[in-house]
Amino acid sequence: MPKSVSICVIGSGYVGLVAAVCFAEMGHTVTCVDNDEAKVKTLRAGGVPIFEDLLPDLLAKHRDKVEFTTDLASAVERSEAIFIAVGTPQGDTGAADLSYVEAVVSEIARHIGSYKVIVEKSTVPVYTNEWVSRVLHRHGVDPKFFDVVSNPEFLREGTAVIDFLHPDRIVVGANSERSADVLKRIYAPLTDGTYYDQPGALPGPCSAAHPARVIVTSAQSAEIIKHASNAFLALKISFINAVGNLAESVDADIEDIALGMGLDSRIGPKFLRAGLGYGGSCFPKDVAAFHWVAQKQGVNFELLQEIRKINETQREVFFNKVLSALWTLRGKRLAAFGLAFKGDTDDIRDSPAISVIKKLLEAGASVTAFDPAAMDRAKDVLPPSAKMNYASDMYEAAKDADAVLILTDWKEFASIDLVKLNQQVKFPIIIDGRNLYKPKDIEAHGFTYVSVGRPASYHAQQGKPRGLAS
Ligand code: NAD
Repeated sequence: MPKSVSICVIGSGYVGLVAAVCFAEMGHTVTCVDNDEAKVKTLRAGGVPIFEDLLPDLLAKHRDKVEFTTDLASAVERSEAIFIAVGTPQGDTGAADLSYVEAVVSEIARHIGSYKVIVEKSTVPVYTNEWVSRVLHRHGVDPKFFDVVSNPEFLREGTAVIDFLHPDRIVVGANSERSADVLKRIYAPLTDGTYYDQPGALPGPCSAAHPARVIVTSAQSAEIIKHASNAFLALKISFINAVGNLAESVDADIEDIALGMGLDSRIGPKFLRAGLGYGGSCFPKDVAAFHWVAQKQGVNFELLQEIRKINETQREVFFNKVLSALWTLRGKRLAAFGLAFKGDTDDIRDSPAISVIKKLLEAGASVTAFDPAAMDRAKDVLPPSAKMNYASDMYEAAKDADAVLILTDWKEFASIDLVKLNQQVKFPIIIDGRNLYKPKDIEAHGFTYVSVGRPASYHAQQGKPRGLAS
């Protein structure tokens, strides 16, 4: 059995591009297809269209093993496995919009002349595998020429390459042994551990002694594993945020509470961080899509709606903190540290930072933002203007600011030179939506510090405002 599999990945976004280069890193031959000609041109010229750690290194390393093209037909014809990694955004009803997936499947159908495994890598609702099969049938593809497999992706932006090569688990939802075997062959370097022994293998949590684990399920179970996993992580975030709001109302400290809860091995510390709530291209739409699935199946899962509501409220809670600290916003000058939906990425899709900034601008404030990676993308949705400015570093953004807002959990925002910052600002006020500091440390540098789920600490000369809801 040949070890290398010829793979086609359709969609070269955050998931498709990472999957493509990681498959090459695992020894496979890969064709990566995108219908965005500009993106393909950039990739062919050696450019990297997204900010993602280690991606430029792997792209450079495997230039001869990954071909980038807009030609889906020939990519499908020469591949044994076809991974669909196009977007599945939220539609008007909350359901996932599967039109990109359907368009790709219809196009694949026209070019299948021998057995292919069609793999759902995009996050899709349960029964999508059946719909994909149905579309292929409708286009007259002989059922013996294909199987549809669900292989959901669990990578996190910012650590995507390591997550892909050192996964907690690989889920293969296959309704035939033949297709499951193709997927097992693809992932064999990770599951038999040979990849981790290779010279130059990227280090991470897996090793030859503790290789990645694969679980084979039905396609429906695999589709639900992905939605349920994301909904559960979103639940943890909303849960700790709700507890944080309660904690703040009784002068308790959410950081102590989260520590005390997270040390319970049944709960664990991850995703138990109070703050501005979740955003990005996955959790919001996946929680909505999962709720839509439950509704459609007649299953009461209103908990999912509560997760969403708490998350949306959290942005309001933060906005009110800014109001509480500054009284009025018209004419105020604010420094915004962060635009991406989380640190280590340039992704601004459904970013809490962007929605908070929009609200501040509507309220009449002017904002100067700095983000280490997301400023170019942010300029598309928040164009530079008299009120919206961009700075080349944190201290420039903070110049003459009435307050500094921390909106994204970038590492550099957790190690600000507070002496330097204090020299820049008009008033020493930090409103931290990511709880990156201990109140005492900030206070010691003469700042008023407002964070999430903890009592605010007020600089002696500024005093504590009273009578405003926070
Ligand atoms: P993305 O928007 O970054 O990338 C999608 C790519 O597909 C784009 O480059 C687009 O041009 C391309 N595309 C769209 N239609 C096409 C067509 N007909 N032919 C060829 N290319 C086409 O999206 P993403 O963030 O990579 O997410 C893709 C899927 O993976 C989604 O379902 C998402 O929910 C899921 N997912 C995302 C993440 C993440 O962290 N971003 C993690 C796990 C799963």
